[in-house]
Amino acid sequence: MDKIAFLGLGIMGRGMVDNLLKAGYALTVWNRTARKCAPFIKRGATPAATPAEAVQDADVILYCLADDAAVEAVVFGPQGILEGVRPGQIAVNMTTQLPALSLREAAAYKAKGVHFLDAPVFGSKNEAAHAGLWIVAGGERRIFQRVKPILEKLSATTHYMGGHGKGASMKLVGNLIVASQLHALGEAMILAAKAGLNPRDVLDVLHVTDFKSPIFDGVGAMLVERNFETHFALKLMLKDANLIARFAEQLRAPTPASAVIRETIKTAVNQGWGEENASALIKALEMQAGVEVKA
Ligand code: NAP
Repeated sequence: MDKIAFLGLGIMGRGMVDNLLKAGYALTVWNRTARKCAPFIKRGATPAATPAEAVQDADVILYCLADDAAVEAVVFGPQGILEGVRPGQIAVNMTTQLPALSLREAAAYKAKGVHFLDAPVFGSKNEAAHAGLWIVAGGERRIFQRVKPILEKLSATTHYMGGHGKGASMKLVGNLIVASQLHALGEAMILAAKAGLNPRDVLDVLHVTDFKSPIFDGVGAMLVERNFETHFALKLMLKDANLIARFAEQLRAPTPASAVIRETIKTAVNQGWGEENASALIKALEMQAGVEVKA
């Protein structure tokens, strides 16, 4: 069985590590804030003091970090992953990041004889905890096939999207939809509130129509309860909106609606809601509307 190093024990990483331990893998863990490793060390994971140390004995290296800056630090920085790797290992980056960074990682790993996949994930806290993620990978197909049994311990489905950077590209494509759906839900629920419709009745209709969405169901139910508990932090959604804007700019792809949505997210973060769930962007729309959506 492969020896695995896992770096980045945030909301997503913790769920994934839990599932890898349940699957019986020998795991070494590293996190910037070391105390978050403690529950996994109690269950048999080996702690590492630095990223370089964490990856030394691993066959497969997985990491899921906040953003491009975190990847810069953990992969390319002092005592980073690149200082600890050896030829033949496989590195799998599950962070949502710019595809261009994936290409730079692929080249840096190649120079060390290490294989690389960018393999970000769809799904949130619950899907990470229950091995229900949807993984989209870029890199060499044979390397994807080689690590697929590991990825399947974390996910409902895995998808090979093409060469390096294609997993990261697919992730930004998907998150454009996620942001649009959250924004659409907010606008619709506010219109419904102003129209005097019962929000639970509205959600019942959204649940069965031909434009239904699990996001409308899950986030809608939390919204009417005024529950903004963090599954996916709003500040990370702003990070993704910024990535989508940069990526679209590089490709000259028109994203006019996403530009408006990014402004809403920015407003909500500026209101101090960045640590709350991404659905807190709806509160910025409520501010403009002068109403609150609640049951
Ligand atoms: P999170 O809970 O905020 O965790 C972020 C992780 O990155 C933590 O381990 C954090 O370490 C680490 N980190 C941040 N800055 C760092 C730096 N400069 N150097 C080293 N480590 C650093 O985020 P998450 O929700 O798990 O998300 C992780 C990634 O998955 C993000 O790219 C996110 O966009 C993506 N994603 C999230 C979701 C979701 O629903 N949550 C869904 C799909 C994809 P500390 O513990 O020390 O802060």
